[in-house]
Amino acid sequence: MPLMLISIERKKKSVRDACVSEKEFLDAIAAKVIVCHKCELWKTRKNAVPGEGRPESQIMFIGEAPGYWEDIKGKPFVGAAGKFLDTLLSEIGFARQSVFIGNIVKYRPPRNREPLPDEIQKCTPYLDSQIRVIQPKYIVTLGNYSTAYIFSKVALPFSGITQAHGKFYETSILGMRVTIFPTFHPSASLYSAKYKEQLIRDFRTLRHELEQKRLV
Ligand code: SF4
Repeated sequence: MPLMLISIERKKKSVRDACVSEKEFLDAIAAKVIVCHKCELWKTRKNAVPGEGRPESQIMFIGEAPGYWEDIKGKPFVGAAGKFLDTLLSEIGFARQSVFIGNIVKYRPPRNREPLPDEIQKCTPYLDSQIRVIQPKYIVTLGNYSTAYIFSKVALPFSGITQAHGKFYETSILGMRVTIFPTFHPSASLYSAKYKEQLIRDFRTLRHELEQKRLV
């Protein structure tokens, strides 16, 4: 085989091996999540929802916690809010399978209550591990809880999603350069036309940025 072809084959193999390895890391994190009893949420959940998507994705979407349908199916964002997220993703040129989608808390809080500080503190090391493996260029936080958590990790002041949304925050997280883009949680669109429009506008802003960076 000519030298150039050998080198291309080697490069392809190393890229393929790296992808397998990232997937294996994510699978290992998911396996730990599934058997986790660190907080009380394991007592009431039906299924763990570790998160899912492309291991080498350049963009991660992070929500709050699984809801009813996510708990039933063990997948993130599969209820009505998830369908709207799919629509928003297609607006910016992404299929759900081409990005990574997860939550700061991996088990459903009873009756969809908000996650408690203790639950967030105990569960977020799993999200941190996922961020380390994926090494995204962009982290899109969906709603108050995930934005507050990610902002706290990079020492950005946070006074609510209404003030923070729709802007890009270039920073370092876990030793990596990353741009954080907060927006509303898609579930907000189910009860407020105002938030729905705002989400659509924010995703268009995001699309414009990703086009500039040639990521779509
Ligand atoms: S919610 Fe998180 S910390 Fe609590 S038991 Fe589940 S995986 Fe563990």
